[in-house]
Amino acid sequence: MTQHFIVIGNPIAHSKSPEIHEQFAVQAGIDISYQRQYCPDDAASFTAVVEAFFCGGGVGANVTVPFKQVAYDCCAARGGLSEHAKTAGAVNTLLLNKALLESGVPITDALYGDNTDGQGLINHIMSLDWPLTDARVALIGAGGAARGVVLPLFEAGIGSLTIANRTVSKAADLVNELSAASSVIDDQNIEVCATNELSGAFDIIINATSIGLSGDTLPLDDALNCQYAYDMMYGRPLPFLQHFAARGAQISEGYGMLIGQAALSFERWTGHTIDVAQATTALNKDR
Ligand code: NDP
Repeated sequence: MTQHFIVIGNPIAHSKSPEIHEQFAVQAGIDISYQRQYCPDDAASFTAVVEAFFCGGGVGANVTVPFKQVAYDCCAARGGLSEHAKTAGAVNTLLLNKALLESGVPITDALYGDNTDGQGLINHIMSLDWPLTDARVALIGAGGAARGVVLPLFEAGIGSLTIANRTVSKAADLVNELSAASSVIDDQNIEVCATNELSGAFDIIINATSIGLSGDTLPLDDALNCQYAYDMMYGRPLPFLQHFAARGAQISEGYGMLIGQAALSFERWTGHTIDVAQATTALNKDR
């Protein structure tokens, strides 16, 4: 029997999620339909789309810009949130809470939210054999993507974290909120600074800003260096990665993070574990 999935966003035509999940389904040997679902940019429309999908027999949905916080609010008031969704303050994966359904709760009150973005990044970094244990990590950005990766970084055993952001107060707020939300996030090992003040040597520097969309470049200090540089953005020339590649660092763009978060969503929904390396090879043939 075909299992139905969607990714909800606005805009949504560019989303690569259908081809990624279809590749996973081939690997898992199951029959799925995975569609892009446009939604008007308001909370009521989002809720209506989600309710219609799950009441119509849908198994799982991904959520992308601009609905990750709306999805969080929706699940918080209904079927619950995973710890990663709670600390991220955002949901990228929707499913039904089976225990609630079995206890007789209606489908619309059983919507459960998870967030696989941060763990998708960690899994990609680990697949590259970049060491995370005790690593000195710098994270540039304090928006939704940065927020989602802090807990998974500490779970992976990093030694220290410096969060740099154009608006320093947002980075400071982020640290206060996250360390209050999870005891795994050790604020004694977190520093905060302005992006143009980030300096010194790090093992890994991660760009979690949206600057690549604007064509601007980050103000990077000449004395800033790292062994590994990761940009969450993908599919376009990335000056951030060019900067560190010229200084001898290993680099990676975020396409692997996209596949990694998708694999974790697929596993939550279907119970099938994905060989991400094999799926990536197959997907890269079509890029
Ligand atoms: P947000 O809008 O929530 O945050 C944007 C961040 O970028 C803020 O920290 C903002 O700083 C900073 N920023 C924006 N413009 C500039 C600039 N001109 N100079 C310096 N800093 C700037 O975005 P998200 O966190 O949701 O997304 C960030 C990136 O991560 C995007 O490129 C997105 O595509 C990517 N991403 C990739 C994923 C993947 O699977 N590969 C998954 C999720 C996200 P300030 O606070 O000062 O405004």
